[in-house]
Amino acid sequence: MKTSRPIRARIAPSAILQNYRLAKHHASSARAWAVVKANAYGHGLWRAVEALRGEADGFALLECENALALREAGVTQAILLLEGIFSGRDGRAVAEHGLTSVVHCREQLELLLGNTPAGAPLSLYIKLNTGMNRLGFTEATLPMAWQLLRPWPQAAVTLMTHFAEADGERGTAWQLARFRQMAGDWRGPVCLGNSAAILRHPQTHGDWVRPGIMLYGASPFAGQSAESLGLQTAMTLESAIIGVQDIAIGDRVGYGGTFTADRPMRIGIVACGYADGYPRHAPSGTPIAVMGQRTETVGRVSMDMLACDLTAIPQAGIGSPVTLWGDGAAGQVPADEVAAAAGTIAYELFCAVAPRVPVRVAGMDTE
Ligand SMILES: *Cc1c(COP(=O)(O)O)cnc(C)c1O
Repeated sequence: MKTSRPIRARIAPSAILQNYRLAKHHASSARAWAVVKANAYGHGLWRAVEALRGEADGFALLECENALALREAGVTQAILLLEGIFSGRDGRAVAEHGLTSVVHCREQLELLLGNTPAGAPLSLYIKLNTGMNRLGFTEATLPMAWQLLRPWPQAAVTLMTHFAEADGERGTAWQLARFRQMAGDWRGPVCLGNSAAILRHPQTHGDWVRPGIMLYGASPFAGQSAESLGLQTAMTLESAIIGVQDIAIGDRVGYGGTFTADRPMRIGIVACGYADGYPRHAPSGTPIAVMGQRTETVGRVSMDMLACDLTAIPQAGIGSPVTLWGDGAAGQVPADEVAAAAGTIAYELFCAVAPRVPVRVAGMDTE
């Protein structure tokens, strides 16, 4: 809904496409699933699909219903169900609509095979648990999966796993070693890397990679900026100053009075709060930009408002533009920095942008 309250999430589809190209550039011998789960990490499933439609090798998401909606919209690329099927109906849809399904346990494999007509084409990603300990077959259960698949010689199988610490010190080698051991003499395709592995662990690239967060312009690494990785900002959360207060030494700001002025200050009130998806845990000092100039938040984030320091930006007043994260007029406030200040990651900020925040697509007048 178009509303006159000034908050907006500005989405740049061209940045998503550029970031996908960067993933392909890094994993140049692999094909890449564009991971568009969780409403394309809050950017809008259809916006991401439209941006990537001409180039993506495939789309990866969670819900079978969304996969079918993509098919209905004429998407012809491969579509991967990242958690596999949840029902017999999903299972029938896989064969009928040429979807590719992850299979991570015996029950799921039986459900899928039980709902696939004999002889129908079948595209499967067998997920191996190599140390994440979330989903996947183990050394002990994998032989039974191969056994269940014996009557399905037409099944196109890819082996996959997911890295738990590709962004961290422990890296991917330990999981890659387990993967190779479990795969044995497997010569078929493999699909391994998320964004962090694509950018930092070229030995994992394999036949298919699965970039997610990097498509949306955030860094998968705590200590490395998106800009330094060559990623473009895909989402900017912006609003405006709707109130200004001049306060004296000793005055406090916001609920709980968690911030006390130690000097005379000019405080700007921004139309953005936790009900818009801004993290309530962002403490005083979280970066924010007003009129393209970086400053800091002050006091607790409320439901519909937050406060920031305008003392060094005297030209700012009611109506001045504010960048909560993303590309400002001049100053940049990387979502990664806001996330780090709030003790979370940009993934969560993007996914949390509330439905009440209107979206503006860059390069389009319509909202
Ligand atoms: C979400 C997801 C990805 C993408 O991870 P990023 O860190 O966002 O690149 C890759 N693989 C699987 C299985 C996922 O669930």
